[in-house]
Amino acid sequence: MIKTTSKYLIIGAGLSGLTTAYELYKAGETAIIVLDARATIGGRILTTNQIDFGATWFQNHHTHVAGLLRELKIEKFPQYAKGQSVLVYSTMAPEHYFQNDPNAPSAHRIAGGSTALIKKLATPFLNQIHTDTTVLAIEDLGDSIKVVTNKAAYSAEKVVSTIPPRIAARIDFLPELPNNVTEVMKKTHTWMSNAIKVGLKFKQPFWKARNLSGTVIGQVGAVTELYDHTNYGETEFGLMGFVNEALRDLTPEERQAKILAYLTKYLGEEIMDYTSYEEKDWSQDKNTSCDTIKSIYMSPAYGNPVFADSYMNGKLLFSGAETSPLHGGYMDGAIYSGKLAAEKLKHK
Ligand SMILES: Cc1cc2nc3c(=O)[nH]c(=O)nc-3n(C[C@H](O)[C@H](O)[C@H](O)COP(=O)(O)OP(=O)(O)OC[C@H]3O[C@@H](n4cnc5c(N)ncnc54)[C@H](O)[C@@H]3O)c2cc1C
Repeated sequence: MIKTTSKYLIIGAGLSGLTTAYELYKAGETAIIVLDARATIGGRILTTNQIDFGATWFQNHHTHVAGLLRELKIEKFPQYAKGQSVLVYSTMAPEHYFQNDPNAPSAHRIAGGSTALIKKLATPFLNQIHTDTTVLAIEDLGDSIKVVTNKAAYSAEKVVSTIPPRIAARIDFLPELPNNVTEVMKKTHTWMSNAIKVGLKFKQPFWKARNLSGTVIGQVGAVTELYDHTNYGETEFGLMGFVNEALRDLTPEERQAKILAYLTKYLGEEIMDYTSYEEKDWSQDKNTSCDTIKSIYMSPAYGNPVFADSYMNGKLLFSGAETSPLHGGYMDGAIYSGKLAAEKLKHK
């Protein structure tokens, strides 16, 4: 029999939900159950075969990521950018080569891949995470909240939903949430839910030998951004980047052919010597994306004040990257909102 009653129920085992659970655990609050619809934990953090198909980088101002990594004793390392980078800015003009400014602050990567952070965070309460468990309804029972899933009905004193707001709008809330809250949820774009990533592995970083950084940037080709994705220990070599969304509706074979032809043109024939090739189209992932996906590259507005309130008489909170008033959409926002939720729970 699985345990279905707890003081705290956290919906979503992404960075935000796991941060809340971790902070509660640290404070001695161990009566926690975490639910996630996916078979694996991490949500939009997904490292497979040492390639980050979800979140990868953080910057110096993302102090919550840096702080958590320090606390969990996980190393960070700079995005490799030495040598010539390629800018493809026009279909008519030749490509442009440039050197990255060695004094510019670099984006940081997480040693072991971003999933290393997820694994470490979840370690203390791993057996309290119920995967393959999709929340369908959240009902206020007065003294407690009932959470109906595809597996079982759970009950808790306090519930935190870290599901991206637009995806959470699918849930039946009983009684219904105020109209303005539902409207905001539906309009909150899930950051990067439209992205397609590609990752290739190689026996050798042939681009480095040619004084190329592995960076290829430009909106006019099959790949809009590509970067070196060599691992921390420099034992595994790869390139990872974002696919032009115009290729979304091609067959996988057609898309792969276009991507490989494009990269061959700018990085050389050795592209075809890849030892693995993988793509991840997040728009096809029902736990992140919705049917009305649009391409949004500018940073949409996050941290709407409706997410700072609690609902169901203080028993239901919303958290997650898109609810964060600080660095919304990013890993830093996910951690910030996760910590904020834990604080609210501890002091109520
Ligand atoms: C391709 C891509 C690249 C990115 N790059 C970066 C980057 O370089 N730097 C950066 O800072 N950020 C980046 N991000 C954003 C970063 O991944 C997110 O900010 C962060 O992971 C969000 O964490 P979260 O816990 O708020 O949400 P999520 O990770 O989305 O977690 C929510 C969880 O809820 C679960 N869920 C959904 N519906 C249900 C349901 N009904 N019942 C139960 N569970 C449910 C989901 O399965 C998921 O695990 C990127 C994201 C993507 C997709």
